[in-house]
Amino acid sequence: MTLWIGLSGGIGSGKSKAASCFAALGVPVLNADEISHQLTAPQGLALPAIRKRCGNNLFQADGNLDRQQLRNWVFADPHNRKLLENILHPLIWQSLQQAKQQISSNQHYGIIEIPLLAEKPEFQQLVQRILIIEAPVDICIQRVQQRSGLDETTIRAIMAQQTDSNSRKAIADDIIINDGNWQELNQKVIQQHHFYQALTPSKL
Ligand code: ADP
Repeated sequence: MTLWIGLSGGIGSGKSKAASCFAALGVPVLNADEISHQLTAPQGLALPAIRKRCGNNLFQADGNLDRQQLRNWVFADPHNRKLLENILHPLIWQSLQQAKQQISSNQHYGIIEIPLLAEKPEFQQLVQRILIIEAPVDICIQRVQQRSGLDETTIRAIMAQQTDSNSRKAIADDIIINDGNWQELNQKVIQQHHFYQALTPSKL
């Protein structure tokens, strides 16, 4: 049986970077955001329901989603966000479940990167353990600025929509503090990798 680890953390904490360190060690890594992107890409499975329940004006003339329009619409009203999540989350959940089954059972463990693991408890059912990546807020802001060029106010607004660090820590079985350079992060991931490799189902 493969052990599944849910990997999460706030924006800029370094969860994607940590996921890529696990992948470099040969660990299978699934990604909820990537699946969400596929579901809403051209011909994506979620498009008919989004058009029906969220409106035609979120679509371009060619039938594809207008992502900027969608982002504005979601930020404009919490009700809109909920509407979209009610469409996407069950589909993401099902896709992750299917993807897990396609991973060879002789892998000892796999990682599922799920940014909203603390906010959406239903996703916790997909994993046996939770690994949270944490970093000081100022470092997270600096990293996101470098990654995306967003200004500090926008980043803080995104952070305010996410759950707080204490709530994330409350669901964690394991925590990596990513406050150093990436070699230090890589070392911490390797240490965590050895720990997971040594885990047997009876120790979960
Ligand atoms: P998240 O997925 O949690 O939003 P990322 O993994 O994308 O965060 O990290 C945010 C940015 O910071 C990325 O550009 C990433 O390469 C960089 N980064 C993350 N951790 C480190 C680190 N320890 N040292 C240097 N850069 C890092």
